[in-house]
Amino acid sequence: MGRHALGVPPKKRMQKKFADALSLLYSVFSITKTTHFTTMSCCNASTTRPDLHDLSKRINPEEKRLVNCKQVDVNQLMPLKYQWAWEYYIKGCANHWMPNEVPMQSDIELWKSNRLTTQERHVIMRNLGFFSTAESLVGNNIVLAIFKHITNPEARQYLLRQAFEEAIHTHTFQYIVESLSLDQREVFNMYHEVNSIHDKDAFEMTLTSAIMEEGFSTETTEGLQTFLKNLVGFYVIMEGVFFYSGFVMLLSFKRQNKMIGVGQQFEYIMRDESIHLNFGIDLINGIRSENPEAWTPQLEQEVREMIKKAVELEVAYAEDCMPRGILGLNATLFRDYVQYIADRRFDRLNMPLEYGSKNPFPWMSEVTDLSKEQNFFERKVTEYQKAASLEW
Ligand code: MN
Ligand code: FE
Repeated sequence: MGRHALGVPPKKRMQKKFADALSLLYSVFSITKTTHFTTMSCCNASTTRPDLHDLSKRINPEEKRLVNCKQVDVNQLMPLKYQWAWEYYIKGCANHWMPNEVPMQSDIELWKSNRLTTQERHVIMRNLGFFSTAESLVGNNIVLAIFKHITNPEARQYLLRQAFEEAIHTHTFQYIVESLSLDQREVFNMYHEVNSIHDKDAFEMTLTSAIMEEGFSTETTEGLQTFLKNLVGFYVIMEGVFFYSGFVMLLSFKRQNKMIGVGQQFEYIMRDESIHLNFGIDLINGIRSENPEAWTPQLEQEVREMIKKAVELEVAYAEDCMPRGILGLNATLFRDYVQYIADRRFDRLNMPLEYGSKNPFPWMSEVTDLSKEQNFFERKVTEYQKAASLEW
């Protein structure tokens, strides 16, 4: 291709591309060219055209709203109103990692050896199967269902970061499958083929499709309630309940010095997820306080039933992963654990507790505190965010 292959000099082409991009922007945001761009005079008082230099158009951050905001421009991040949302974004960025930076050699050797039992392999495979598609479900729900309806730029800034983290998490399972030479089709199809995984995912997918229905709007109370149920379903249930049996199982291997690369990846994912969960709950509570009419006693009861149902699905999943005990774990301990986790979520939602179960795995709280001494990160920033102040 010659330099002028399109018959237009490069500078003109650039101008054309810029003009095309602008007209796309106009159509997306319904800005008309005449309004802002062809009228360069700001002194023409005879028309109703907005004035380019009109200081009264500067946003008042107090008018920002998490949903249904029409008063302020969603393209202007600053000044912030929701400092917490910005801080989650900064924390997420400070935890940045990539799966292919984690060495997998000892995992590969162990996986190819005869030093893992059939039950141990089963637990690992089930969790790879669940997480490999669950991460994509969460990412897709952010992009397709949540993002559009959140009308606040600092919250959107975090959603963009979170969506990328979900892509990194999906990448992690591609990387593990490739490293261990597992059957890709078997792992990535488990959400169709394994009942205990399918049941958890089907529960989530109905919540996404409810938002994507034709004519859905958060401007009616009913619509906003459906939206809140989606947020509970993904942030509190998927990332806050459905992930936690898997975290315990894979971190238990690492504690016994088995599959330490995979265990490391799960530690990083869990640290990211604790931020996702906390952002999500702050978002839910923020929308509640701005729209108190939506959080009715009936909605609260529905949310309680959703979380109770999720606990049963998660206990069934744990039983399916380990029909017999391994590594000092068994299904009974998981019932206590999942109930304990669910109570913590009720507490964060300012709802009465349901179970009163004790945490059978107190060591899990230490794992969220890891201080990044791992040597494979030596060439990078070594001090990472601590998750100690976060709910997990
Ligand atoms: Mn994730
Ligand atoms: Fe997440």
